[in-house]
Amino acid sequence: MAGSSTVVVFDFDHTMIEDNSDTWVVEQMGLTDSFNQLLRTLPWNSLMDRMMEEVHSKGKTIEEIAECLRRVPMNPRIVAAITKAHALLGCELRIISDANQFFIETILKHYGLFDCFSEIITNPSIIEEEEGRLRICPYHDSVSSPHGCHLCPPNLCKGLVIEQIQASISEKGKKKMIYLGDGRGDYCPSLKLGERDHVMPRKDFPLWKTICDNRTLIKAEVHEWSNGEELERILIQLIEANSTESNCKTP
Ligand SMILES: [Mg+2]
Ligand SMILES: [Zn+2]
Repeated sequence: MAGSSTVVVFDFDHTMIEDNSDTWVVEQMGLTDSFNQLLRTLPWNSLMDRMMEEVHSKGKTIEEIAECLRRVPMNPRIVAAITKAHALLGCELRIISDANQFFIETILKHYGLFDCFSEIITNPSIIEEEEGRLRICPYHDSVSSPHGCHLCPPNLCKGLVIEQIQASISEKGKKKMIYLGDGRGDYCPSLKLGERDHVMPRKDFPLWKTICDNRTLIKAEVHEWSNGEELERILIQLIEANSTESNCKTP
C-alpha cells in the first residue's frame, strides 16, 4: 500500500483531540480547585492518580468517567486523516502520550479509531474492579528505571520511546517517520528524528515555539499546522510523497 513506508507517530492531547483529556475530566468532575492546589506539590502523573481517587470518593463510577471522555471534541478532519492514513494508505500509526491508557482507549473507541493504531505508548491505567476505582501509573518507573532525560517529566521520556521505535523499524528496511505534536514533551522526540523524517508541530503551541527558537537543532523537515484541515492536507501529502519517492511495489 502507498504509505507502508511511513510510520506516523501522534501525540494525543491538543494534537489528535481538541483539549487535554486530563484537565477535561478534572473540570467536568468539578475538581479544578483541588487540582490547582495539588499541582504545586505533586508531579502531573501522580496528581492524576490522586484526582481519580477523588472522583471515586465523590461516588462517581468508571462508566461516568468514560461518558465524560466521550464528550471530548475531536476535529472530523483529523478523524478522516487518521482513517485514510491507516485504511487507504496503509501507514503504521502509533500514539505516544502522557495521558493514560483508559482515557485514550475510551476516546479512540468512541470515534471508531482504536483499530487504526498498532501501538499506544502511554501511562498504564488499572481498573480496580471491586473498588470501582481507576488507578494511573507512570510509564517509566523513576526509581527502578529512571530515563535520565532532563527535558522530560520523570514518568515518560517520549524521545526514548522514539529511539526504541526507530530501532525496531530500521530492522524492517527504510521507513520515514512523521511525528505530530504540540507540547513541551514533544520536543525531546522531535530532536531524535533524522533528516529523512518530518515533524508537524501545531502552530503557536509550545513545541512550535521551541522549534522556532532554534531551528538548527532539528534535523527533520518541519511542517506547521493550525487546524484539522491543515493537519489532514499536510499529513496526507507527506505520506503520498514518501510512497512515490520510495517507489514501493504494492504488496
Ligand atoms: Mg499534547
Ligand atoms: Zn526526553
